[in-house]
Amino acid sequence: MKSHWQEALAELEARKLRRQLHPLVPLSPTCALREGRECLLFCTNNYLGLTHHPRVIAAVQEAVATFGTGSGASPLISGYTELHQELAERLARFKGAARALLFPSGYSANVGCLSALAGPEDVVFVDRLGHASLLDGIRLSGAKMVRFRHNDLDHLESLLSRHRGRRRFLVTEGVFSMDGDTAPLAEMANLARREELIFIVDDAHGTGVLGPQGRGTLAAQGVDPEGIIIVGTLSKALAAVGGFVAGGEDLIEFLLNRVRSFIFSTSLPPPVVAAATSALRVLEEDPELLESLRANIRRLAGGLRALGIPAREETPIFPVVLGSEERALKVASRLLEQGFYVPAIRPPAVPPGTARLRVSVSALHTPEEIDSFLEALAETLKEV
Ligand code: PMP
Repeated sequence: MKSHWQEALAELEARKLRRQLHPLVPLSPTCALREGRECLLFCTNNYLGLTHHPRVIAAVQEAVATFGTGSGASPLISGYTELHQELAERLARFKGAARALLFPSGYSANVGCLSALAGPEDVVFVDRLGHASLLDGIRLSGAKMVRFRHNDLDHLESLLSRHRGRRRFLVTEGVFSMDGDTAPLAEMANLARREELIFIVDDAHGTGVLGPQGRGTLAAQGVDPEGIIIVGTLSKALAAVGGFVAGGEDLIEFLLNRVRSFIFSTSLPPPVVAAATSALRVLEEDPELLESLRANIRRLAGGLRALGIPAREETPIFPVVLGSEERALKVASRLLEQGFYVPAIRPPAVPPGTARLRVSVSALHTPEEIDSFLEALAETLKEV
């Protein structure tokens, strides 16, 4: 007889929605061994390749030698070191905020903050493509969740007008993780001011990537961050792991007293904190990395458009929407045979019927690697 779990897995298998783990041995930020075979990665969030930067590695080695491997406690006990303080201050400056707070991950920052800030009396308006961690945080808060059409301010305004007289939140991503487009943050910030909304921007994928020195999507769009709650992650361009929230002094003081994922979880390991601090330093001191990323974005976008695939030159994320789970899996597996690793992205990560490759490019891909990927993609799409 099949166990409950076997039955559930068989159902996922039949719907082409079963996932599996594939251990990799990274050789560089853009290349790894998978089942003993070398492949080029066009799927990571390591947009600047800083995970292997010599200065970042040296900072981690120094931190581990003095601060040890783990923090040993939650931040309000003894897990908050001078390294944590330095990173929080640097992140606040980077985002133009008064103060910042570190979390074990971007996921726990979103879930923790939304569930602490909003309550059952409130209404939270969130973009329909908002990340799972935003939706989970809203659900946990008990607030009424209202999802507006992706980046559609007319739809948002019409929904807002139906929910007056209650405290209201507006939640969006800066860069949408599976589509690579950006939210109209300037218009949203104006709307938030006019309608007295509490405005939260999850800039996981804009941080370290967009705007001057990679300060993020708000900076890229020239939006004053005053009064905006910015959530971010250290796990993508910043080459580490962890989340953060940046905002006003009172907000951060409130959060550190109330957010359960902050209070009840061990703080980030000091070497991880050192990696992110060092990554921020490299970003500030080495503008060439961002220039290479932007050149690679242009090259990949141009190549995709030449294949008839719509592609903006806004961010390093390019959706190649293929429709069915089966087709996305086939294309991904054919590309892997040719040495390119871009796993298929399927529901619930993306809406049903929009299974895709989520192609991402790094500052460290060479022009030849991008061109050979485009060639392989063109051949594969003809075949499948
Ligand atoms: N927000 C967005 C938009 C994301 O894409 C992700 C990561 N997939 C997260 C939050 C969670 O961040 P982390 O990986 O640091 O938990």
